[in-house]
Amino acid sequence: MTEPRDLLGRPLRDLRVSVTDRCNFRCPYCMPREVFGEAHRFLPKNDILSFEEITRVVSALCGIGVHKVRLTGGEPLLRRDLPELVRRLAAIGTLEDLAMTTNGLLLAMSAQALKDAGLHRVTVSLDALDDQLFRRLSGTDRPVEHVLDGIRAARLAGLPVKINCVIQRGLNEDQVLPLAEWCRDEGYTLRFIEYMDVGNHNRWHAASVVPATEIRARLESFYPLEAVEGATRGEVARRYRYADGAGEIGFVTSITEPFCRDCHRARLTADGKLVTCLFAENGADVRGLLRSGADERAIRQFVARVWGQRDDRYSELRAAVQPRKKIEMSYVGG
Ligand code: SAM
Ligand code: SF4
Ligand code: SF4
Repeated sequence: MTEPRDLLGRPLRDLRVSVTDRCNFRCPYCMPREVFGEAHRFLPKNDILSFEEITRVVSALCGIGVHKVRLTGGEPLLRRDLPELVRRLAAIGTLEDLAMTTNGLLLAMSAQALKDAGLHRVTVSLDALDDQLFRRLSGTDRPVEHVLDGIRAARLAGLPVKINCVIQRGLNEDQVLPLAEWCRDEGYTLRFIEYMDVGNHNRWHAASVVPATEIRARLESFYPLEAVEGATRGEVARRYRYADGAGEIGFVTSITEPFCRDCHRARLTADGKLVTCLFAENGADVRGLLRSGADERAIRQFVARVWGQRDDRYSELRAAVQPRKKIEMSYVGG
């Protein structure tokens, strides 16, 4: 079967797989406690795709152009036996890149098992090094040191680690330099992601976004940076290297310089919806297809049809889009 193209000519290359909608953090920009509190109903177990179902979908999509998969959530490390899923996915011969994004809290105890199962690399989200601020931004009473332990454990296990950080105006701008210096010293690539208007509850407003250019300028006054040329198409981060050779840093400019024309990514939610944009209102039901006994060919045809109708470019149109109910970040996985 030929590789599908969407209505703007973009191929499908990259799949985010959310393995749970639950999380052990309550970051106010993603799962504010007043919405995701005691009364919130998470997905019931039977609605969640099994490892066998996820593997069927990934395996089918690897046959039509997907070569990167990232496990996410909610918090992916809350999914029981995650290394077993990694083992199954790593066995798909054509999958070139198998990564995971995590808040890192449970990473110390699972890094080695994930590496042994075949995970290629890990991204840890970390918005502050200051312990009090970290707890506030993560909605947790756990110390930041637990996340740092997880990061170190991943590296010791042989997993390349990147750190993702979202800076919000007036909240954690003072963490830019400490985080950059910590990552430089420890040898991790840090990426700053612009704060986005995902979901429906984080009270996002344009003034709370700190543009990547501003963060870069702030860093450059301490550490000169050089653009890394030749980054591959579809790579979302703008990459720079420290002029003194102390590694790389990246910026994901989702708000100030949208990159929809190079967006080759679909998302599979924990309950089996195929979502073609982070800002979508809903997704296409792959679970129903799987549970009706569809074979690989039928899964490919279904996904190719959904992808073929895609014209998403929310970030490019943001200002012109009418307010609407969007999918939640903790459901779609980032
Ligand atoms: N729980 C895991 C974690 O935090 O890494 C994986 C899922 S989380 C939804 C994925 C990423 O989304 C995290 O890096 C988080 O910082 C990012 N994120 C959540 N809400 C965001 C927002 N409003 N703007 C930008 N990034 C956001
Ligand atoms: Fe949980 Fe990740 Fe959302 Fe924070 S960003 S609440 S860690 S899913
Ligand atoms: Fe891709 Fe949608 Fe983000 Fe544009 S707004 S880059 S189409 S996920």
